[in-house]
Amino acid sequence: MSDKKEEKICKRCLFKADEKDQYCIRCGAPLINRCTDFKTGGKHYCGFVNRPDARYCAKCGHETVFKQYGLV
Ligand SMILES: [Zn+2]
Ligand SMILES: [Zn+2]
Repeated sequence: MSDKKEEKICKRCLFKADEKDQYCIRCGAPLINRCTDFKTGGKHYCGFVNRPDARYCAKCGHETVFKQYGLV
């Protein structure tokens, strides 16, 4: 019985982050590829969590956080 934790690997520094971390504690890069539309505020913000290799949000077409940080 192995209690297997899903690890998140930082795309920038390859640090193995905890699965519940949202940002890398080593370099500050985001670990979750969220839609950047949440920054615009307003009622209809997206905030959709995309796959790690997505450059644009699958839901609304805005840039993803990973693209803004130059990670994809
Ligand atoms: Zn990192
Ligand atoms: Zn979106």
